[in-house]
Amino acid sequence: MRAAVMTAPGRLEVQEVDLLPLAPWRIRVRTGATPFCVTDVMNSDGVFGKEPPTILGHASMGVVEELGPEVAGVRVGDRVVVHGTAECDRCFYCVRGRTDQCSLIFDRPDGPPQVARLADGSIATAAGNVGGYAELMSVDARQVVAVDTTLSDVELGLMGCGVTTGLGSVFNVAAVVPGSDVAVVGCGQLGLWMIQAARLAGAGQIIALDPDAGRRERAAKAGATATLDPDAADPVEQVRALTGGYGVTYALEAAGPALAQRQAVLMTHRGGTVVLTGCEPLGAELSLPQVPAALHGRAILSSQNGRVRMHHDIPRYVRMLEDGRLDASLVVSAEFTLDEITEAKEAARAHRTVIGVVVPNRR
Ligand SMILES: [Zn+2]
Ligand SMILES: [Zn+2]
Repeated sequence: MRAAVMTAPGRLEVQEVDLLPLAPWRIRVRTGATPFCVTDVMNSDGVFGKEPPTILGHASMGVVEELGPEVAGVRVGDRVVVHGTAECDRCFYCVRGRTDQCSLIFDRPDGPPQVARLADGSIATAAGNVGGYAELMSVDARQVVAVDTTLSDVELGLMGCGVTTGLGSVFNVAAVVPGSDVAVVGCGQLGLWMIQAARLAGAGQIIALDPDAGRRERAAKAGATATLDPDAADPVEQVRALTGGYGVTYALEAAGPALAQRQAVLMTHRGGTVVLTGCEPLGAELSLPQVPAALHGRAILSSQNGRVRMHHDIPRYVRMLEDGRLDASLVVSAEFTLDEITEAKEAARAHRTVIGVVVPNRR
């Protein structure tokens, strides 16, 4: 099969590779669609410590072609979402109900699973246990959800990372109370899903912040009641001016830089809730003034993949897309073949796409 292999930090090469025989709990999936999000740009630059050779693409969808002998709950021919986070149901975290922290994703002493042999004999791993920039994936059956839906491959491909992180941040982590004011910091794909979710949650004002005018326009279509340019004036002051001087009840950060996270914290009123999703390269730190952080009653929360439980949340989110309550067309802005993988990456890096989707089996 063909795969886009990260052969060195910053380098993606499309190669003919052989998928390794399946381990007993793994399945082979023919890839339908894999988004190219900013996380993949950073992974491909090597700033999150991914070791080459590896196949990137950390959430995907496709059709099951083969099952390992110990797989249960999935059949050949099923259309599956390959979620960004496995749920093993057995590890320290899963048994405590924190499947978003499953050891299969965060505690792998031997690194990510080995999935394919390259022409030179070296073995490639699958980043995020997925490896979606390839015609075929070998994935752990505990990381997929079978869905019966009329959604397109491209729409369904967004489910495992963008949709779940965006919606889960609003519904599961922030748990937005109807009528309350929300700020969304950053209007890339995550921010656009957060805005749509905040609208569905019945938020009062939905204040969207992004320096890019095109993204602010998409934010308004998604349901933002006000859009602000954080470079035009102090974003914290701009948000306070719209909220009677207090700030918002919920600030959802979907931007990445530590400065944006600090601003998200400070644009909530005392007792407000902040949800953080972004990351700069490994080792970056977030600094906060102590009095607002420690004395003013804020809840500062982390959202890894929206804290979803995939078998419960993904089918619900699929239905919300099917019946039109959520609109993927606001988010998807380009499609790429495997041979166009570098264009997909550079478009994501330069913000020419909100989310580009790679369709590996399309020539
Ligand atoms: Zn687990
Ligand atoms: Zn992602």
